[in-house]
Amino acid sequence: MLKVPRVLIIGAGPAGIAAAVKLLENGFSNITILEAEDRVGGRIHSVEFGEGFVDLGAQWIHGEKGNIAYEMVKHLDLVSNSHNDYSKDFIFYLSTGKMADKYITDKLYNFLVTIVYQDKDFSYHGSFEDYVKEEYIKKIREEFPHDQNILELSKAMEEWFCKYYLTYDAAESLSDFSLSNTIGDYVEYEGHPTINWRDKGYKTFLDVLMKKSPNPSTRLPVEEKIQLNKKVTTILWNEPNYPNAVVVKCSDNTSYVADHVLVTVSLGVLKNTHSKLFSPPLPPYKVRTIEGLCFGNLVKIFLQFRKKWWPDDFKGILWYLDSVYGIRTARNCGTAANKNLGYLFRGRKKFLPTTTFSYCIKPSIDGNRKHQIFHVY
Ligand SMILES: Cc1cc2nc3c(=O)[nH]c(=O)nc-3n(C[C@H](O)[C@H](O)[C@H](O)COP(=O)(O)OP(=O)(O)OC[C@H]3O[C@@H](n4cnc5c(N)ncnc54)[C@H](O)[C@@H]3O)c2cc1C
Repeated sequence: MLKVPRVLIIGAGPAGIAAAVKLLENGFSNITILEAEDRVGGRIHSVEFGEGFVDLGAQWIHGEKGNIAYEMVKHLDLVSNSHNDYSKDFIFYLSTGKMADKYITDKLYNFLVTIVYQDKDFSYHGSFEDYVKEEYIKKIREEFPHDQNILELSKAMEEWFCKYYLTYDAAESLSDFSLSNTIGDYVEYEGHPTINWRDKGYKTFLDVLMKKSPNPSTRLPVEEKIQLNKKVTTILWNEPNYPNAVVVKCSDNTSYVADHVLVTVSLGVLKNTHSKLFSPPLPPYKVRTIEGLCFGNLVKIFLQFRKKWWPDDFKGILWYLDSVYGIRTARNCGTAANKNLGYLFRGRKKFLPTTTFSYCIKPSIDGNRKHQIFHVY
């Protein structure tokens, strides 16, 4: 009789859970999932906040056609399109509290969009950041040649736009990109770009994945296979004592033997640990891939207001340097305060400013996550 292979899955994020589901559906029942944290979901992390949930990690389904997450839920009445439709007209507020002149902000925003997404000059030899800044100032001088007042506003728009851009590519600075390898070069799924989970959080997707939702009676026994607080420290995949098997050791001194191991930890974890994690080491082509790929950091700060004061077509706040001077020079604010808030997503009462910076959060590398949720009354 054929033996059912023992499969270990490392990580109970969406990839680990999806792998377990596929294996169970195909008759591989001898599965164990080892998860370092005390919860499942990985970078899907919905937490209760106000009248619903907020997502500290993944929040939206980006696009419809060909997007597996959307394909799985589109018939289930679980998701809605968000207001922040890119194609709509929008307005900015200034950090002084006034609404910005829409004619001017439209112009400035469109300069930046054209430079970044449409008119790229690939023969340029400087960094992407230098390119954007040089082209932007040229356009401003052409359009508003004698208007000194526009300069401060244009600077605020430039800063806002760069943060907005960086929240999508999750880098720390535009100078991290080459001109030829910028956002226009990855393919976006057709359809609405930000589909939300109606205040219930992206965790809903995990329930759909495990077939708990919409009908709990079809639930697959995935959770029973998960062991929490099991941080894998070593994967011995060529041990003489265990031919044709893999031995996995955890930080609590437990160990597991399996016929197959699926490693679903993030790129950050792999970058930080691959040389110690695998014995023998991974082959050079895998190491090159892990070391060659990069990522940046993205931080979300949720604010909740008693009532929604922003209009639906509100895009963000343009920060004048004077307004952020106090924050930037405040004691103990560190790097976080040196970079001001980037993109703002709006909900019913919740307000989500996102920013990119390097110091405050390094979730996938060292596991020290800092959550910041502010209630504003
Ligand atoms: C702030 C933020 C916002 C995001 N927003 C979106 C969004 O709006 N839409 C979208 O589609 N995507 C978004 N993403 C990306 C999305 O969250 C990830 O693509 C997705 O979670 C990747 O799933 P994964 O299972 O591959 O990895 P992870 O979710 O990282 O899961 C890996 C799991 O492995 C565990 N692990 C790590 N090391 C070990 C170890 N040594 N031993 C045992 N377990 C270990 C981790 O604890 C984790 O649970 C966002 C990500 C972040 C961080």
